[in-house]
Amino acid sequence: MSDEPLLRVEGLKKHYRVTKGVLFSRTLGHVKAVDGVSFTLRAGETVGLVGESGCGKTTTSKLILNLEAPTEGEVLLDGKPIHDLDGAELIAFRAKVQAVFQDPWSSLNPRMTVGRTIAESLIVNGWTQERIKARVSDLLVQVGLRAEQATQYPHEFSGGQRQRIALAAALASHPKLIVLDEPISALDVSIRAQMMNLLKDIQAEQNVAYLLVAHDLATVRHMADHTVVMYLGKIVEQGPTESLFRDVRHPYTKALFSAVLEARPGAAADEIELKGEVPSPLNPPGGCRFHPRCPFAFDRCSHDEPDLREVSPGHNVACHLYDAVETGKTSDAVRATSPAS
Ligand code: SF4
Repeated sequence: MSDEPLLRVEGLKKHYRVTKGVLFSRTLGHVKAVDGVSFTLRAGETVGLVGESGCGKTTTSKLILNLEAPTEGEVLLDGKPIHDLDGAELIAFRAKVQAVFQDPWSSLNPRMTVGRTIAESLIVNGWTQERIKARVSDLLVQVGLRAEQATQYPHEFSGGQRQRIALAAALASHPKLIVLDEPISALDVSIRAQMMNLLKDIQAEQNVAYLLVAHDLATVRHMADHTVVMYLGKIVEQGPTESLFRDVRHPYTKALFSAVLEARPGAAADEIELKGEVPSPLNPPGGCRFHPRCPFAFDRCSHDEPDLREVSPGHNVACHLYDAVETGKTSDAVRATSPAS
């Protein structure tokens, strides 16, 4: 495995201006959907991006897919900034970075045979009919379907089969990275494991990297090598999945785990109930953005924003409880409430 990351996300921000009025519009503020996100993804690995809806994970994935331009920061693929690309370089980027979405209907044209849908990117790249036919047959078999099903239409398939077709279409251009946006959450529970195993098998065979956007922690645990937890546009905890799931530190991550205890068996003693709604990203709370919902908040949390700090190798947490632990100034109150205690 290469030492250099395939994908590097550096200080990424996406702020949307909110205006009022049509002719003489005035700025009311900015929605800080993504506000300083950094992480890396290596070839053949999976990063799981998790958080409640509104945490910024979908906007982050759109920036990585180059569907939107960042307000600040950069996304680099193979060391090259992606938002400067145009012309042939942009076409090459689209072949290297593909996506599979929650609803396979969004990427399948009901009036096209699945073979034609899978062949789209090959046609754009000037492949001959003969090569396209062979590649489509091969892709259908790779995702567990039959080559002769290329002549059928999407409505003739089940939901799980349609997601396999969407995956075949994404694989057609030999991508280096696939953004999987809630790829199994719309599927029957009985076929979710099959889809996850298929994704893992394909990754092992083709060394493709996945950015897995999900709210389901069990899926992330099964699939991801590295987990990134986002809250209100910021990363609050990130680390190797194995270490993070064994030793969750941030109160928000603990609350997510408490909602689905099966994601981390034996975690009942750490249960934290998540109260209230995610605050508006138009006017996020000062200090630690999680402080109005955090059962461990103390004075400093409302005015001082915590930085991400390493608490164990590769495992970073943005929470003042761990600043205190690190500097040896842990008060009794902090120790009593600390998730680490
Ligand atoms: Fe809770 Fe304070 Fe930590 Fe934020 S910094 S998660 S408010 S204890």
